[in-house]
Amino acid sequence: MQAGLPEPHRPVVGANGTLRPRANRVPVVIDLPVADPWFVCSRVGDGITLVSEPHVHPLLRCNVWHVQGREFDLVVDTSLGLAPLRHLVDRQLAAGILAVATHSHSDHIGGLDEFTDRAAHRDEVAELAKPVLNFLESAVYGETVLGPYRRAGYVIPELFIDAVPPGGLQATIIERGPVPVTRVLDEGDIVDLGDRSFEVLHLPGHSPGSIGLWEAATGVLFAGDAAYDGPLLDELEGSDVDAYVSTMHRLRSLPVTVVHGGHERSFGRDRLIEICDHYLGHNPGVTGGMVERAKIGHESGRRSARYG
Ligand SMILES: [Zn+2]
Repeated sequence: MQAGLPEPHRPVVGANGTLRPRANRVPVVIDLPVADPWFVCSRVGDGITLVSEPHVHPLLRCNVWHVQGREFDLVVDTSLGLAPLRHLVDRQLAAGILAVATHSHSDHIGGLDEFTDRAAHRDEVAELAKPVLNFLESAVYGETVLGPYRRAGYVIPELFIDAVPPGGLQATIIERGPVPVTRVLDEGDIVDLGDRSFEVLHLPGHSPGSIGLWEAATGVLFAGDAAYDGPLLDELEGSDVDAYVSTMHRLRSLPVTVVHGGHERSFGRDRLIEICDHYLGHNPGVTGGMVERAKIGHESGRRSARYG
């Protein structure tokens, strides 16, 4: 969910996807216990598995969702990237895995370079084509990120991890190369796994190209950072409150059975409506001028695409 990061935000870095300490900083010894395994997997029903990083603070702990399909598997977001991820979701598939980034914030795309097939919304493509830094020290984050968490009662620690993955970490700032997408997604596109399909919902506000993946047949929604059961961030670089209001109106009317968000626990429709109403109640003067456009797009923008 992070953005609005300190300067320099986008340094020149080396090899694509390489995880390494920032070159101009003296490596530090991170004196924390090793967590092995780093990731914890849990089945949540409907053929969906949650891959989580329990030793990462909730602010940066991105939920990774793995959906098994008959012809393709789907991975929604790819963690902070402090440890290899792909082996957790690999199966003996004839085809492969499509990794979808719900948006380009660095806590969601850490492991994206591990996947051959990568997709994101058109409005996030340019960001994914740039190098990026992950900051593990809370002191470098601004109030636009930390403030909502503090006000919600979260403790903000010095470091956003309380353990290190096997092999350790040599720096609290991690730099990555670009991870360009191989597939561009738009509103209404269908991600077809063979026996189940997810519709791309463009849900801007948190970021310009935030998306949800909506399976009408089951009522499952992967919502990314558009909606999760925690402090929502709308003051980041690229955020847009007006668009977020539209997104909340749209989500409020969606007949979901379960929402799997980009962070925190999953929830049902009643909680989704509470989250939407809470946001809308804090932005009473905002009209959300994109509501009509979003509805129109939802009805007419459908395209089918198969990945592999
Ligand atoms: Zn985000």
